[in-house]
Amino acid sequence: MVRIEGLRKSFGDLEVLRDVNLDVAPGEVVTIIGASGSGKSTLLRCINLLETPDAGHVWFQGSDLTADHVDVNRLREDIGMVFQGFNLFNNMDVLANCTLAPVIRKKMSKAEAEEVALGHLRSVGLEGFAHAAPSTLSGGQKQRVAIARALCMAPKIMLFDEPTSALDPQIVGEVLEVMRGLARDGMTMVVVTHEMEFARTVSDRVVFMDRGVIAEQGDPERIFTAPEHPRTREFLSRYL
Ligand code: ATP
Ligand code: MG
Repeated sequence: MVRIEGLRKSFGDLEVLRDVNLDVAPGEVVTIIGASGSGKSTLLRCINLLETPDAGHVWFQGSDLTADHVDVNRLREDIGMVFQGFNLFNNMDVLANCTLAPVIRKKMSKAEAEEVALGHLRSVGLEGFAHAAPSTLSGGQKQRVAIARALCMAPKIMLFDEPTSALDPQIVGEVLEVMRGLARDGMTMVVVTHEMEFARTVSDRVVFMDRGVIAEQGDPERIFTAPEHPRTREFLSRYL
């Protein structure tokens, strides 16, 4: 579904991604782990062109996103993204957050978009919050709205950038539970996370990034029990 080849990205003199290659198959859940500054977010953001790669290719469903003629807005309809900081529109209620893009981008009627949105809000346990203002919600509720909002576009893939890092420890679980459900339902997901238990138990593959390259990747059990790369061992030892 996603194929990344020879991806490079620098900010000024700082080489953030150095020849990254990664494939994500339909239905696969891939988690990306690694130290702060290793390039995890930049890699994720290259998949929906929030960052423009300097070199290399990113294919999504067979089309090369790095080609000149790519319709970025059309592309993003198929790629859901959830950020650490929720990024909800605070001047509209939960339901309007969820219906905005489907109405504008997919030309859905308001009634249809609301029906779809209520279904997704129910699936994240927030059916009673359709008319709540985002500012009245807890962090965990906000993040579940952000997930429901992304799902309203019927994305082919969901990208998560540290979705639980801004949450109090006691509410991390409710967001991970929603993500676990999505994975179970077969959603293709790429998840940058520091939640090692999630990476180990939910993902099909773990990718360890180190200073702009994928130092190691593989089956979660293998990565967590028998990491091969010294940098992976060192990184994981901090979580034991
Ligand atoms: P973290 O775990 O802290 O989120 P990360 O692995 O996601 O780290 P990136 O956000 O990809 O790392 O950043 C890699 C490096 O690139 C960092 O040194 C960061 O400061 C730098 N960087 C990221 N985005 C930009 C930007 N827009 N302009 C300049 N430097 C940037
Ligand atoms: Mg990051």
